[in-house]
Amino acid sequence: MYAPAGVKASTDYPIPDAMKAWVLGDPGQLSLREKPVPVPKKAEVLVRIDAVAICATDLEIIYHGPPALIRGGLPHNKNFTPGHEYMGTVVALGPGVDEYRIGQRVTVEIHAGCGQCKRCREGMYTACHNYGLNFGEVDKGHRANGFTTDGGFCEYQVNNINTLVAIPDTMSDEEATLVVTAGTAMYGLTELGGLVAGESVVVTGPGPIGLLGVAVAKALGAQPVILTGTRDNRLAIGRELGADHVVNVRSEDAVAAVRRLNRGKGVDYVLECSGAPNAVNEAVRMVNRGGKICLAAFPHQETPVDIAEIVRNNIYVYGIRGEGKSATHRAEAFMSQGRFEATKIHTHTFPLEDLPTAIRYAKDRIEDAIKVVVKARGVSAVHKVAAE
Ligand SMILES: [Zn+2]
Ligand SMILES: [Zn+2]
Repeated sequence: MYAPAGVKASTDYPIPDAMKAWVLGDPGQLSLREKPVPVPKKAEVLVRIDAVAICATDLEIIYHGPPALIRGGLPHNKNFTPGHEYMGTVVALGPGVDEYRIGQRVTVEIHAGCGQCKRCREGMYTACHNYGLNFGEVDKGHRANGFTTDGGFCEYQVNNINTLVAIPDTMSDEEATLVVTAGTAMYGLTELGGLVAGESVVVTGPGPIGLLGVAVAKALGAQPVILTGTRDNRLAIGRELGADHVVNVRSEDAVAAVRRLNRGKGVDYVLECSGAPNAVNEAVRMVNRGGKICLAAFPHQETPVDIAEIVRNNIYVYGIRGEGKSATHRAEAFMSQGRFEATKIHTHTFPLEDLPTAIRYAKDRIEDAIKVVVKARGVSAVHKVAAE
């Protein structure tokens, strides 16, 4: 049985020595293997993974590699387990850990920065200067599970206590996997200034971050919140999450529509979540003079940007990576208070064994899939469509 020296476990949550884990081979190839259950070190716990959501970035990593960085290079054929949007139960405590107890339900942030670089000291641990340095002689202790260290498409994982967010029993496993997505939207709005009550906000792109961006902006008091996109079914979910107006950019010019809906003026903030090639130039024309734009999605190719328009109008442009400055805790506070129903973006659940099917649903948007979740236990082999 699992009994590493210095680690506290409990007979209430028996831990095996080995676990099932999906491992990335060549690009696009995953296989279910056995791996030893990892051992938590100082300031770490062992989390039994109860549910994990699939993110567009997982698909990038599985099919192309970046932004994963394993031992300084691409993640393929390195016995690497991807997956980063997971939640679960604390089942073992590393030496000295008393911040969490065995049996406690938690969700996780992705980035445990090194804790010693300039950015980590500023709370910008997702921009850690020692990103990916967790091996050999350059080991700085950085972890970003599912990016630079093993992730959540398995049964157990170790997490630094700084990446844990306690959740209430009233929050379902599926909802808890969405906290980090809402946390990314919260981080974007934090970087734009944080106090958005009464400010006008456009969210471009109704993917998971965009849709929860609408919800978080509304919960922060923004007015009006305008969502732009190309799919009516997703725009309708945006409305349910609090968008005052939605614009289908296939039938209307996005910039003209935003100005019309905001009484002829540009808006204060744009949260760009589409990654569309012309998204930055459109955002620049959507904001008013002195307005702010946060870029939370990445286009696949370099795109020309109208710099002169940005300079002439004193526009601020921010790029964010992930969910820094404890934004995930603020997002969880909104969710546990029921300020919005994040589960509106959860569409499908599959057992962990069916991960390749779950990935196909997420990638090809089968049955209008948005957030697809896999669970190690409690789901029948036949896929279940969410009741929400
Ligand atoms: Zn993600
Ligand atoms: Zn750091």
